[in-house]
Amino acid sequence: MSLSSSSSRSRSSSSSSASCWLTAIPLEQHGFTLHKSAFRDALCLRYGWHPSNLPDICPCGSKFSVDHSLSCPTGGYPSIRHNEVRDLFTNLLTEVCHDVHKEPVLQPLNGEVFQKRCTTSDENARLDIAVSGFWGGHFQRTFFDVRVFNPNASSYKSVQIPSLYKRQEQEKKRRYEERINNVELSSFTPIILACTGGCSKLTSIFLKRRLRITSLVCFWFHHDPQRFYSVGDRKSLSTVNRDLNFKSLLFCSASSLSTP
Ligand SMILES: [Zn+2]
Repeated sequence: MSLSSSSSRSRSSSSSSASCWLTAIPLEQHGFTLHKSAFRDALCLRYGWHPSNLPDICPCGSKFSVDHSLSCPTGGYPSIRHNEVRDLFTNLLTEVCHDVHKEPVLQPLNGEVFQKRCTTSDENARLDIAVSGFWGGHFQRTFFDVRVFNPNASSYKSVQIPSLYKRQEQEKKRRYEERINNVELSSFTPIILACTGGCSKLTSIFLKRRLRITSLVCFWFHHDPQRFYSVGDRKSLSTVNRDLNFKSLLFCSASSLSTP
């Protein structure tokens, strides 16, 4: 592994909450268990060590490397890690919001013009999740779109991690926000995660908000002290981050390395 690649990996692994998956409780029912080779591979990815028994050539025909495995579309791992995180968030939002839809199609356009040229006018545009009652009032609708990116991709190596998160957020906003604000009369929140662990500032705010709603829902509607204690007080942001990082990191990397 080259020096630049190793240093790039170490900066992404040291970013906020990137190590949370290491303390995740290996709950089988949530898919948080790893066999020994997958765990060793994951540690190698974290510390920039070279995993053993890697193939020389990727099935796509390119030279195989750790960074290539995180971005190669052959086998569908980038899609799998995205879909896994989207489904996890959909389940989390179902607990605290109503009218939850996965992959909602946006309303067709009837000649609306957008100020931002990048705003999508695709007739079949769809986002990852739509819910009511997350930000604002009970009927306020919010659309979410998920991106899980590889911060060690060669095109990102000269960019600082906080700037990368910001850039990914801005790209999503430029594409969807104006249309969702003006046509759907809703708000838009991009959910940005790095496949090495960690998330954007806006995603962190979203997670805190989701936990706060969970606490209020449990307290006011269930009046169940045991559940309130278990969800509101004990399930901290770091716990959710652990879950998410575990999913986003290991689905994309350990499995892609360990699966023949
Ligand atoms: Zn490949």
